Amino acid sequence: MIIENLSQVRETIQDARLKKAAINPIEAFQLIAVTKNHDVAAMREAIDAGVTAVGENRVQEARQKAAVLERTVKWHLIGHLQTNKVKQAVELFDLIHSVDSAKLAAQIDHAAAAMGKIQDILLQVNVAKEESKFGIYREDLDALLQVVNKLDNVRLCGLMSIAPHYENPETARPIFREMFMLFHALQAANPDGAAIRWLSMGMSNDYEIAIEEGSNMVRIGTGIFGHRQY
Ligand SMILES: *Cc1c(COP(=O)(O)O)cnc(C)c1O
Repeated sequence: MIIENLSQVRETIQDARLKKAAINPIEAFQLIAVTKNHDVAAMREAIDAGVTAVGENRVQEARQKAAVLERTVKWHLIGHLQTNKVKQAVELFDLIHSVDSAKLAAQIDHAAAAMGKIQDILLQVNVAKEESKFGIYREDLDALLQVVNKLDNVRLCGLMSIAPHYENPETARPIFREMFMLFHALQAANPDGAAIRWLSMGMSNDYEIAIEEGSNMVRIGTGIFGHRQY
């Protein structure tokens, strides 16, 4: 099923990109296959079918899989990062989507410096102010940006958001639209910031709407692998 699901998702992505309302000047697009709670056999199948980036939400699980995967793939951390896991995260992940505090950014910078790495990051914004979710509120974004811009070993690559789960994903459209405006402003404020190119938003139930509103990085688990067993 994974191969069929993948081609279905790719088609939906193409259609949504053609319909998109917001013109994201950056034409790059990335599909992140969210492999949390799925085994390495499923991961191998997806990678062999063309998946180039996987998203995991727990550092430990990702490390265990990376040790036995026997495939080359980009690793994305999409879940909350605890400070005691920062070093291990910096060792493995190509992009950390979930940076939401100055303290965490500084710890990532410190770990990256010790490893001689520049760590790519996104800042996670909680636009809908859901208490159950991580991410900074938009009014705190500028202060965090000022801190991040001073760090030598992290490279800011854009923004990430998780929209609230609505029965009808159309309800999330204003949230995606607001995220795009924040992203656009961030790009405009960093004319030399060629690194600022990813707006990570959209999951299985709402990625079409997210893409129409300017997302160029979607994180899809269920739509590719089916429901997760916990
Ligand atoms: C689990 C998860 C996803 C994927 O969710 P699906 O509904 O299975 O597509 C995307 N982003 C984050 C941050 C997640 O934790």
